[in-house]
Amino acid sequence: MVHEMDDILRHIKYVKDEICHTAMSCGRDPNAVHLIAVSKTIPTEKVRYAIESGVVNLGENYIQEAKGKIDKLSSYPVSWHFIGHLQSNKAKTAVALFDYIHTIDSLKLALELDKQAAKINKIQNVLIQVNISREETKSGVTPEDAIELIRHISKLDNLIIKGLMTMPPFFKDPEQARPYFKSLNNLREMIVRESIPRVFMDELSMGMTGDYKVAIQEGSTMVRVGTAIFGKRN
Ligand SMILES: *Cc1c(COP(=O)(O)O)cnc(C)c1O
Repeated sequence: MVHEMDDILRHIKYVKDEICHTAMSCGRDPNAVHLIAVSKTIPTEKVRYAIESGVVNLGENYIQEAKGKIDKLSSYPVSWHFIGHLQSNKAKTAVALFDYIHTIDSLKLALELDKQAAKINKIQNVLIQVNISREETKSGVTPEDAIELIRHISKLDNLIIKGLMTMPPFFKDPEQARPYFKSLNNLREMIVRESIPRVFMDELSMGMTGDYKVAIQEGSTMVRVGTAIFGKRN
């Protein structure tokens, strides 16, 4: 156990250094790239240790699992990010627990989140998940439909759109993910040019353990890193 905790601290330092180094080497401000430590399947005590080692953003994929951890760790001033697929019937719990929800890809889901956020007087930060690779098995709105969806969601009082999120296909060579990251950034710029009221395009949630450096070079502001911090998941 002691060794595992030492590993987590060392991994966090390493990943933060890599983020800083990568950002600076492409002329970006390292503070503009936020590390989201993805703690799905990781037990609460390890997550606590990651927080005590300086992690301030955590990402979770499953509502039930997240609820247990977030309740136990509620005394820490950290932000929780929902990055999994969200079903409308979990919207209420998601809104109660998460500072950011990264995976909005339909108006139906947005309407339910807006309704639940209104009930607790919350303005919920959301990102729009884009299926940039157009894989049939992937969640996310298609790039063609993104602007229309964003226009609709922008009119919902209790949601605020902060940016875009994507998951490219898995490649062994992270260079192969680069075109997908580039096209998400291009889409972001297109949406900025539309000047839709109440729509912010400050955040690009892209890049995981295997490809976060390439994602930073292509403009990522939120890298979602699990394995490189907590080790391989079961
Ligand atoms: C699990 C997960 C991650 C983290 O993946 P790693 O390869 O372990 O860094 C990032 N984003 C999403 C959406 C995930 O589900």
